Amino acid sequence: MKEIICLGIEATAHTFGVGIVTNEKKILADVRDMYTTEQGGIIPNEAARHHEQLKEHILEKALEEAKLKIEEIDCIAFSQGPGLPPTLHVGKNFARELALNYNKPLLGVNHLCGHLEEGKFFTAAKDPVYVFVSGANTQIIAYEGGKYRVFGEALSVGLGNALDKFGRAVGLGFPAGPKIEALAKKGKYVAIPYVVKGMDVEFSGIVTHCEQLFKKGVAVEDLCYSLQETGFAMLLEVTERALAHTGKKEALLIGGVAANQRFIEMLQIMCKERGVKAYACPLKYSGDNGVQIAITGLLQFTTKTNMFTTEKEIQQAAIDPTWRIEDVAVPWMH
Ligand code: AMP
Ligand code: MG
Repeated sequence: MKEIICLGIEATAHTFGVGIVTNEKKILADVRDMYTTEQGGIIPNEAARHHEQLKEHILEKALEEAKLKIEEIDCIAFSQGPGLPPTLHVGKNFARELALNYNKPLLGVNHLCGHLEEGKFFTAAKDPVYVFVSGANTQIIAYEGGKYRVFGEALSVGLGNALDKFGRAVGLGFPAGPKIEALAKKGKYVAIPYVVKGMDVEFSGIVTHCEQLFKKGVAVEDLCYSLQETGFAMLLEVTERALAHTGKKEALLIGGVAANQRFIEMLQIMCKERGVKAYACPLKYSGDNGVQIAITGLLQFTTKTNMFTTEKEIQQAAIDPTWRIEDVAVPWMH
């Protein structure tokens, strides 16, 4: 079979990334740049401006890294949603322009699906319960009955955003996750709420509570430690029930928060006790990147899923900022 090369563009939030991957699982390029702020928080229009300014440069660098001309790429994939509309537009417009100018098929990739497929690409996991914990999204997902289904999720903010929100309140900058992880190493437990409702979790009240304790003079290290231990334990409680319900034998941690070593350790302990294999997406690929979009783009290209080929189709390809994982067609899983 001829080698198929896919170029993936990620632009759902803070990161603009271009990844180039082949159907023989070779990663030819992975170039990305993340919008960061000193004060914390993403301002969607500013992130979009960041992506707009860097997109050409990132594409050029990716092609250079892959030693390819754009003409040699077989298909272009872009993150179609969910995400922030202003940044999604930048990625979609850029991808559409490339598809039209170079006469390539265009694939609209669900960003969450990108994380799930990438997690399997980089680990031995085949059909796991996915513990998907990123900035905006926190969901426990598994493939059942022909689609990915959400078994439990964060009711308001995702855990990553909750950590960032707390970080902003105590002056840690954005993203706060890695700083909270470092500070937590020096912290001890203080009592904070633990909120699991059925299969769902709720972080916003916990963050508010931690912010109040901070104002009362509780050490930031102790709050970081307690926030991590509590947030991770809540998610693992739900994960354990999803494992029991589905009977699956693997758990896979993915998303930006999967970079957290303490989280991985806690997952491993829970899985060991249940006789389940624990996997985590490698640190380098746990955050948003173009490679995850290219990996999923290839699966879609070979199954002709959500693929736009005619000029009219490509021109009409639109973003879907609230696209849920249950609504994604995944014929390669059947
Ligand atoms: P994503 O949206 O998947 O790119 O994930 C970004 C989120 O991951 C942000 O909210 C970060 O604060 C969070 N994050 C990154 N590294 C860590 C870490 N080491 N521990 C906890 N959270 C992290
Ligand atoms: Mg993400």
